[in-house]
Amino acid sequence: MGRSGLQAAIAGYRALEGAPTMLRVGGLTPLSTADWPGMLAAVVFCQGCPWRCRYCHNPHLIPPRSENEIPWDDVLAFLRRRRGLLDGVVFSGGEPTLQPELADAMREVRALGFKVGLHTGGAYPRRLAELLPLVDWVGLDAKAPFADYARITGVAGSGDPALASLDAVLASGVEHEIRTTVHPALLADAEVVDLAQALSARSVKRHVIQAFRSQGCVDAALVQDARCERPMASLVENVARVFEPGH
Ligand code: SF4
Repeated sequence: MGRSGLQAAIAGYRALEGAPTMLRVGGLTPLSTADWPGMLAAVVFCQGCPWRCRYCHNPHLIPPRSENEIPWDDVLAFLRRRRGLLDGVVFSGGEPTLQPELADAMREVRALGFKVGLHTGGAYPRRLAELLPLVDWVGLDAKAPFADYARITGVAGSGDPALASLDAVLASGVEHEIRTTVHPALLADAEVVDLAQALSARSVKRHVIQAFRSQGCVDAALVQDARCERPMASLVENVARVFEPGH
């Protein structure tokens, strides 16, 4: 992010001071079967993210505020009409744990009878640990070798909170999957397998490899890189082997 972008982001966060304490929602998917395995879920996309991943396919969710925010009360009204039709609600982003209002939003969703899922990059481990008792399932990113996270996020030291978040999820016993998005320009296959081994050593049981999605990504070099279209079956197999019993 350039200097002017950084200043705009800082100004945006300052503008939040004194704002009503309601979850800032940048988008809503009414029904998804892909965002929480085995569940019919609505997905609430939370506005704001402290990281700047080059492969981000939701860059409009990165700024702290958006002109297209959906009032939280409207989200709740929608969910009231979906009671009995959906299993759960996934809070995604952006980075949902950025917002202190997330805990109250989760409680309101639970009070409506929905299960609660969470997608997070793990940027705020202490807040995540406080949220985990309200959560039925977590999809947590493992973006890169933890000592070299800035390669993906653009933020120095971001591997430390990500690792602390992983440990918090594992210690909580909450059902989870750990997800790694792979673009060959950013992460070599051997590094992905090394990462899988590091996760396995920490007792992770489910590590999902996700292919880079060009839709929405604003990094032209990544989108135009022909390697991002290559099949990933062998990498997925190699990672799955790491988690086989007796490996
Ligand atoms: S953590 Fe997620 S929302 Fe934030 S920049 Fe990275 S990919 Fe985008």
